[in-house]
Amino acid sequence: MILKGKTALVTGSTSGIGLGIACKLAEAGANVMLNGFGDVDAAMARVSAFGTRVLHHPADMADAEQIGELIGQTERDFGSLDVLVNNAGIQHVAPVERFPVERWNSIIAINLSSVFHTMRLALPGMRERNWGRIINISSVHGLVASTQKAAYVAAKHGVIGLTKTVALETATTGITCNALCPGWVLTPLVQQQIDSKAKAHGDPMRATRELLMEKQPSLDFVTPEELGELAVFLCSDAGRQVRGAAWNVDGGWLAQ
Ligand code: NAD
Repeated sequence: MILKGKTALVTGSTSGIGLGIACKLAEAGANVMLNGFGDVDAAMARVSAFGTRVLHHPADMADAEQIGELIGQTERDFGSLDVLVNNAGIQHVAPVERFPVERWNSIIAINLSSVFHTMRLALPGMRERNWGRIINISSVHGLVASTQKAAYVAAKHGVIGLTKTVALETATTGITCNALCPGWVLTPLVQQQIDSKAKAHGDPMRATRELLMEKQPSLDFVTPEELGELAVFLCSDAGRQVRGAAWNVDGGWLAQ
Protein backbone atom coordinates (compact mmCIF):
# COMPACT_ATOMS: atom_id res chain seq x y z
CA MET A 1 0.00 0.00 0.00
CA ILE A 2 2.76 2.45 -0.95
CA LEU A 3 0.22 5.06 -2.03
CA LYS A 4 -1.95 5.00 1.08
CA GLY A 5 -3.14 8.55 1.82
CA LYS A 6 -2.08 9.84 -1.61
CA THR A 7 -4.37 11.03 -4.38
CA ALA A 8 -4.00 10.09 -8.04
CA LEU A 9 -5.67 11.74 -11.01
CA VAL A 10 -5.74 9.66 -14.18
CA THR A 11 -7.07 11.46 -17.25
CA GLY A 12 -9.02 9.35 -19.74
CA SER A 13 -9.51 6.57 -17.20
CA THR A 14 -12.97 5.25 -18.10
CA SER A 15 -11.42 2.79 -20.57
CA GLY A 16 -8.29 0.96 -21.70
CA ILE A 17 -4.87 1.92 -20.36
CA GLY A 18 -6.12 4.70 -18.06
CA LEU A 19 -8.58 2.36 -16.36
CA GLY A 20 -5.86 -0.31 -15.93
CA ILE A 21 -3.49 2.23 -14.38
CA ALA A 22 -6.23 3.65 -12.11
CA CYS A 23 -6.95 0.13 -10.78
CA LYS A 24 -3.27 -0.54 -9.98
CA LEU A 25 -2.87 2.84 -8.24
CA ALA A 26 -6.02 2.15 -6.17
CA GLU A 27 -4.69 -1.34 -5.36
CA ALA A 28 -1.52 0.39 -4.09
CA GLY A 29 -3.71 2.46 -1.74
CA ALA A 30 -4.34 5.70 -3.66
CA ASN A 31 -7.61 7.61 -3.70
CA VAL A 32 -8.42 8.18 -7.36
CA MET A 33 -10.03 10.92 -9.43
CA LEU A 34 -11.23 9.35 -12.67
CA ASN A 35 -11.88 11.31 -15.86
CA GLY A 36 -13.21 10.44 -19.29
CA PHE A 37 -16.37 9.70 -21.22
CA GLY A 38 -18.41 6.56 -21.89
CA ASP A 39 -19.35 4.02 -19.21
CA VAL A 40 -18.39 6.01 -16.11
CA ASP A 41 -20.37 3.77 -13.71
CA ALA A 42 -18.55 0.61 -14.82
CA ALA A 43 -15.17 2.33 -14.44
CA MET A 44 -16.12 3.68 -10.99
CA ALA A 45 -17.19 0.16 -9.92
CA ARG A 46 -13.92 -1.43 -11.09
CA VAL A 47 -11.64 1.09 -9.36
CA SER A 48 -13.78 1.31 -6.19
CA ALA A 49 -13.37 -2.46 -5.71
CA PHE A 50 -9.95 -1.77 -4.15
CA GLY A 51 -11.58 0.05 -1.23
CA THR A 52 -10.13 3.55 -1.62
CA ARG A 53 -12.12 6.74 -2.35
CA VAL A 54 -12.94 7.14 -6.03
CA LEU A 55 -14.59 10.09 -7.79
CA HIS A 56 -15.11 11.04 -11.43
CA HIS A 57 -14.83 14.44 -13.12
CA PRO A 58 -16.16 14.84 -16.67
CA ALA A 59 -13.68 17.50 -17.91
CA ASP A 60 -13.09 17.57 -21.64
CA MET A 61 -9.29 17.45 -21.91
CA ALA A 62 -9.47 19.58 -25.06
CA ASP A 63 -10.62 22.55 -22.95
CA ALA A 64 -8.13 24.44 -20.74
CA GLU A 65 -10.89 25.91 -18.56
CA GLN A 66 -12.40 22.49 -17.82
CA ILE A 67 -8.92 21.14 -17.06
CA GLY A 68 -8.57 23.95 -14.48
CA GLU A 69 -11.85 22.81 -12.89
CA LEU A 70 -10.64 19.18 -12.84
CA ILE A 71 -7.40 19.99 -11.03
CA GLY A 72 -9.13 22.40 -8.60
CA GLN A 73 -11.89 19.88 -7.83
CA THR A 74 -9.36 17.06 -7.24
CA GLU A 75 -7.38 19.18 -4.77
CA ARG A 76 -10.55 20.35 -2.98
CA ASP A 77 -12.20 16.91 -2.76
CA PHE A 78 -9.13 14.92 -1.72
CA GLY A 79 -6.93 17.59 -0.10
CA SER A 80 -4.00 17.10 -2.51
CA LEU A 81 -3.01 15.86 -5.96
CA ASP A 82 0.08 13.68 -5.63
CA VAL A 83 0.15 11.38 -8.67
CA LEU A 84 -0.81 12.83 -12.05
CA VAL A 85 -1.21 10.40 -14.94
CA ASN A 86 -1.77 12.13 -18.27
CA ASN A 87 -3.37 9.40 -20.33
CA ALA A 88 -6.35 10.81 -22.29
CA GLY A 89 -5.74 10.41 -25.98
CA ILE A 90 -7.37 9.97 -29.36
CA GLN A 91 -6.18 8.84 -32.77
CA HIS A 92 -6.98 9.59 -36.41
CA VAL A 93 -5.42 7.83 -39.36
CA ALA A 94 -5.01 9.60 -42.73
CA PRO A 95 -2.16 10.73 -45.01
CA VAL A 96 -0.92 14.21 -44.13
CA GLU A 97 -2.30 15.94 -47.24
CA ARG A 98 -5.78 14.59 -46.46
CA PHE A 99 -5.55 14.95 -42.67
CA PRO A 100 -8.67 16.87 -41.50
CA VAL A 101 -7.59 20.15 -39.86
CA GLU A 102 -10.14 19.79 -37.05
CA ARG A 103 -8.79 16.30 -36.23
CA TRP A 104 -5.24 17.73 -36.11
CA ASN A 105 -6.43 20.44 -33.70
CA SER A 106 -8.28 17.97 -31.42
CA ILE A 107 -5.36 15.53 -31.28
CA ILE A 108 -2.87 18.28 -30.42
CA ALA A 109 -5.27 19.66 -27.78
CA ILE A 110 -6.14 16.33 -26.11
CA ASN A 111 -2.88 14.38 -26.55
CA LEU A 112 -0.38 17.25 -26.02
CA SER A 113 -1.74 20.58 -24.74
CA SER A 114 -3.75 18.91 -21.95
CA VAL A 115 -0.46 17.53 -20.56
CA PHE A 116 0.93 21.08 -20.36
CA HIS A 117 -2.24 22.36 -18.65
CA THR A 118 -2.52 19.60 -16.01
CA MET A 119 1.19 19.85 -15.15
CA ARG A 120 1.27 23.65 -14.90
CA LEU A 121 -1.76 23.51 -12.58
CA ALA A 122 -0.74 20.50 -10.46
CA LEU A 123 2.92 21.45 -9.92
CA PRO A 124 2.40 24.29 -7.37
CA GLY A 125 0.68 21.88 -4.91
CA MET A 126 3.31 19.19 -5.50
CA ARG A 127 6.08 21.73 -4.88
CA GLU A 128 4.43 22.83 -1.60
CA ARG A 129 4.49 19.21 -0.38
CA ASN A 130 7.82 18.49 -2.11
CA TRP A 131 6.43 15.20 -3.41
CA GLY A 132 4.81 14.25 -6.67
CA ARG A 133 4.82 11.73 -9.47
CA ILE A 134 3.88 12.77 -13.02
CA ILE A 135 3.50 9.95 -15.53
CA ASN A 136 2.74 10.97 -19.10
CA ILE A 137 1.43 8.27 -21.41
CA SER A 138 3.27 8.88 -24.65
CA SER A 139 3.75 5.96 -27.08
CA VAL A 140 6.39 4.26 -29.19
CA HIS A 141 5.06 6.91 -31.59
CA GLY A 142 6.73 9.46 -29.31
CA LEU A 143 10.08 7.98 -30.38
CA VAL A 144 9.53 6.72 -33.94
CA ALA A 145 6.93 7.47 -36.61
CA SER A 146 4.46 5.45 -38.65
CA THR A 147 2.67 6.59 -41.77
CA GLN A 148 -0.80 8.18 -41.60
CA LYS A 149 -0.47 9.32 -37.98
CA ALA A 150 0.92 12.85 -38.40
CA ALA A 151 -0.94 14.50 -35.52
CA TYR A 152 -0.56 11.55 -33.13
CA VAL A 153 3.19 11.17 -33.81
CA ALA A 154 3.74 14.95 -33.47
CA ALA A 155 1.77 15.09 -30.21
CA LYS A 156 3.47 12.03 -28.69
CA HIS A 157 6.97 13.33 -29.60
CA GLY A 158 5.89 16.61 -27.99
CA VAL A 159 4.83 14.83 -24.79
CA ILE A 160 8.34 13.38 -24.42
CA GLY A 161 9.96 16.81 -24.90
CA LEU A 162 7.58 18.33 -22.38
CA THR A 163 8.27 15.48 -19.93
CA LYS A 164 12.03 16.06 -20.13
CA THR A 165 11.61 19.81 -19.57
CA VAL A 166 9.49 19.32 -16.45
CA ALA A 167 11.85 16.58 -15.21
CA LEU A 168 14.71 19.11 -15.38
CA GLU A 169 12.69 21.92 -13.78
CA THR A 170 11.88 19.60 -10.83
CA ALA A 171 15.19 17.71 -10.74
CA THR A 172 16.20 18.84 -7.23
CA THR A 173 12.76 18.22 -5.72
CA GLY A 174 10.75 15.20 -4.61
CA ILE A 175 8.73 15.43 -7.81
CA THR A 176 9.57 13.18 -10.77
CA CYS A 177 8.21 13.38 -14.29
CA ASN A 178 8.47 10.49 -16.77
CA ALA A 179 6.83 9.19 -19.92
CA LEU A 180 5.69 5.66 -20.69
CA CYS A 181 5.86 4.59 -24.33
CA PRO A 182 3.62 1.58 -24.94
CA GLY A 183 3.56 -0.45 -28.12
CA TRP A 184 0.24 -2.05 -29.14
CA VAL A 185 -2.21 -2.45 -26.24
CA LEU A 186 -5.56 -4.02 -27.15
CA THR A 187 -7.97 -1.21 -26.19
CA PRO A 188 -10.91 0.43 -28.02
CA LEU A 189 -8.40 2.87 -29.62
CA VAL A 190 -6.50 -0.02 -31.26
CA GLN A 191 -9.62 -2.14 -31.89
CA GLN A 192 -10.80 0.66 -34.24
CA GLN A 193 -7.60 0.24 -36.26
CA ILE A 194 -7.99 -3.56 -36.34
CA ASP A 195 -11.63 -3.17 -37.46
CA SER A 196 -10.67 -0.92 -40.36
CA LYS A 197 -7.91 -3.38 -41.42
CA ALA A 198 -10.43 -6.27 -41.12
CA LYS A 199 -12.83 -4.41 -43.44
CA ALA A 200 -10.18 -4.72 -46.16
CA HIS A 201 -10.08 -8.56 -46.04
CA GLY A 202 -12.96 -9.53 -43.75
CA ASP A 203 -10.99 -11.49 -41.13
CA PRO A 204 -10.48 -9.90 -37.66
CA MET A 205 -8.02 -12.62 -36.51
CA ARG A 206 -5.84 -12.07 -39.57
CA ALA A 207 -6.08 -8.28 -39.15
CA THR A 208 -4.92 -8.59 -35.52
CA ARG A 209 -1.99 -10.84 -36.45
CA GLU A 210 -0.95 -8.53 -39.30
CA LEU A 211 -1.07 -5.50 -37.00
CA LEU A 212 1.26 -7.20 -34.51
CA MET A 213 3.58 -8.73 -37.13
CA GLU A 214 4.14 -5.36 -38.77
CA LYS A 215 5.68 -3.75 -35.63
CA GLN A 216 5.64 -5.80 -32.41
CA PRO A 217 8.11 -8.74 -32.41
CA SER A 218 6.58 -10.42 -29.34
CA LEU A 219 3.39 -10.88 -31.43
CA ASP A 220 1.54 -10.20 -28.20
CA PHE A 221 -0.20 -7.13 -26.79
CA VAL A 222 1.05 -5.10 -23.82
CA THR A 223 -1.70 -5.00 -21.16
CA PRO A 224 -3.07 -1.99 -19.24
CA GLU A 225 -2.28 -3.84 -16.00
CA GLU A 226 1.41 -4.17 -16.93
CA LEU A 227 1.54 -0.42 -17.52
CA GLY A 228 -0.23 0.08 -14.19
CA GLU A 229 2.45 -1.97 -12.39
CA LEU A 230 5.14 0.20 -13.95
CA ALA A 231 3.28 3.35 -12.85
CA VAL A 232 3.23 2.01 -9.28
CA PHE A 233 6.98 1.35 -9.48
CA LEU A 234 7.59 4.95 -10.63
CA CYS A 235 5.59 6.11 -7.58
CA SER A 236 7.75 4.04 -5.22
CA ASP A 237 10.91 5.18 -3.42
CA ALA A 238 12.93 3.00 -5.80
CA GLY A 239 11.68 5.19 -8.66
CA ARG A 240 12.96 8.38 -7.00
CA GLN A 241 15.83 8.96 -9.44
CA VAL A 242 14.02 7.91 -12.60
CA ARG A 243 13.65 11.39 -14.12
CA GLY A 244 12.82 12.44 -17.66
CA ALA A 245 12.73 8.87 -18.95
CA ALA A 246 10.78 7.78 -22.01
CA TRP A 247 10.29 4.16 -20.97
CA ASN A 248 9.20 1.87 -23.77
CA VAL A 249 7.02 -1.15 -23.02
CA ASP A 250 6.57 -2.43 -26.53
CA GLY A 251 7.20 -6.16 -27.06
CA GLY A 252 10.46 -5.26 -28.81
CA TRP A 253 9.05 -2.68 -31.29
CA LEU A 254 11.90 -0.20 -30.76
CA ALA A 255 14.65 -2.82 -30.67
CA GLN A 256 14.38 -3.29 -34.45
P1 NAD B 1 -9.08 4.28 -25.10
O1 NAD B 1 -9.81 4.81 -26.29
O2 NAD B 1 -9.41 2.93 -24.56
O3 NAD B 1 -9.23 5.30 -23.88
C1 NAD B 1 -9.11 6.68 -24.05
C2 NAD B 1 -9.64 7.36 -22.81
O4 NAD B 1 -9.53 8.77 -23.01
C3 NAD B 1 -11.12 7.07 -22.54
O5 NAD B 1 -11.33 7.03 -21.15
C4 NAD B 1 -11.81 8.29 -23.14
O6 NAD B 1 -13.09 8.57 -22.57
C5 NAD B 1 -10.80 9.37 -22.79
N1 NAD B 1 -10.91 10.56 -23.61
C6 NAD B 1 -10.90 10.67 -24.96
N2 NAD B 1 -11.06 11.96 -25.31
C7 NAD B 1 -11.16 12.66 -24.16
C8 NAD B 1 -11.34 14.03 -23.86
N3 NAD B 1 -11.47 14.95 -24.81
N4 NAD B 1 -11.41 14.41 -22.56
C9 NAD B 1 -11.33 13.47 -21.57
N5 NAD B 1 -11.15 12.17 -21.80
C10 NAD B 1 -11.07 11.77 -23.07
O7 NAD B 1 -7.55 4.42 -25.49
P2 NAD B 1 -6.22 3.74 -24.90
O8 NAD B 1 -5.69 2.85 -25.95
O9 NAD B 1 -6.43 3.22 -23.53
O10 NAD B 1 -5.26 5.01 -24.89
C11 NAD B 1 -4.90 5.68 -23.71
C12 NAD B 1 -3.60 6.44 -23.95
O11 NAD B 1 -2.57 5.51 -24.26
C13 NAD B 1 -3.66 7.41 -25.12
O12 NAD B 1 -2.95 8.58 -24.80
C14 NAD B 1 -2.98 6.66 -26.24
O13 NAD B 1 -2.41 7.51 -27.17
C15 NAD B 1 -1.92 5.91 -25.45
N6 NAD B 1 -1.39 4.73 -26.14
C16 NAD B 1 -2.21 3.70 -26.50
C17 NAD B 1 -1.64 2.60 -27.14
C18 NAD B 1 -2.47 1.41 -27.55
O14 NAD B 1 -1.93 0.52 -28.24
N7 NAD B 1 -3.71 1.30 -27.16
C19 NAD B 1 -0.27 2.56 -27.40
C20 NAD B 1 0.52 3.63 -27.02
C21 NAD B 1 -0.05 4.71 -26.37
